[in-house]
Amino acid sequence: LGIEEDDFPHTGSVTSALPIPGIASVAASTNHAVKLSNWLKKDPHLQLYIENDCKMLPEVLSYNVVAEVKGNAFPKSIILAGAHLDSWDMGHGAHDDGAGVVQSIEVMRIFRALGIKPRNTLRIVLFMNEENGMRGAYEYARIVGKGHERHVVALESDAGGFSPRGFRINAGEAQLEAIQSWAPLFQPYLMHHLDAGFSGADIGPLKEFDVPLIGLYVDPQRYYGYHHTAADTFDKVNRRELHMGAAAMASLLFLIDKYGLPEEQVLLSE
Ligand SMILES: [Zn+2]
Repeated sequence: LGIEEDDFPHTGSVTSALPIPGIASVAASTNHAVKLSNWLKKDPHLQLYIENDCKMLPEVLSYNVVAEVKGNAFPKSIILAGAHLDSWDMGHGAHDDGAGVVQSIEVMRIFRALGIKPRNTLRIVLFMNEENGMRGAYEYARIVGKGHERHVVALESDAGGFSPRGFRINAGEAQLEAIQSWAPLFQPYLMHHLDAGFSGADIGPLKEFDVPLIGLYVDPQRYYGYHHTAADTFDKVNRRELHMGAAAMASLLFLIDKYGLPEEQVLLSE
């Protein structure tokens, strides 16, 4: 996955390219992969000894973190902003997904700071266990499935705290068009890319209930220099870019809260 020439292997779920059971897979950094490739060119019969101390620890109980401001017109209708709390155990998980967590909280702070009382309930959900099974996301969807509330929209930030470019939308045709009609409002900030596309892993299970799903779309050029590596540390996050992303999220949720989205079955696929 790496795009930089560095010594950071990208952890995460690894699947073997060879469909042979019992062969372990490991991630290598770009520099180490080049080194290995050069060794193999010199000696095609090269043998390599790899020692690995990875292990699975026992399961522990954990939780999603949820906060909300009750809607003053439709308290049982939810506009959701979320991100995931967990990260891989290298680095800080600053871009993946500390940035999204902070932005989701910031959406709520922006509403309060501007004195906006949402018509629908503004709910912030910080999902647990995205990286290793998405159990927080499935548990949240299971509760939504009980049908006590309606989700107007779910918005996720999990692409890093980089400069926002717009949103990726997984919704029905008329809902997509309604959001795209707001492009002129985002255009002055170059956040006007409002295209159909993948929204985010944690809100994905809500699609079953025809919830319009939206992902914050950010400049993707540097993400894979940090993603799932020891290099994903706080100093890599630009404060201004992080703020701009949160402001983009708050703006879109404000518009949806004020004007609503057309009701329809979700037709587009991820
Ligand atoms: Zn993530």
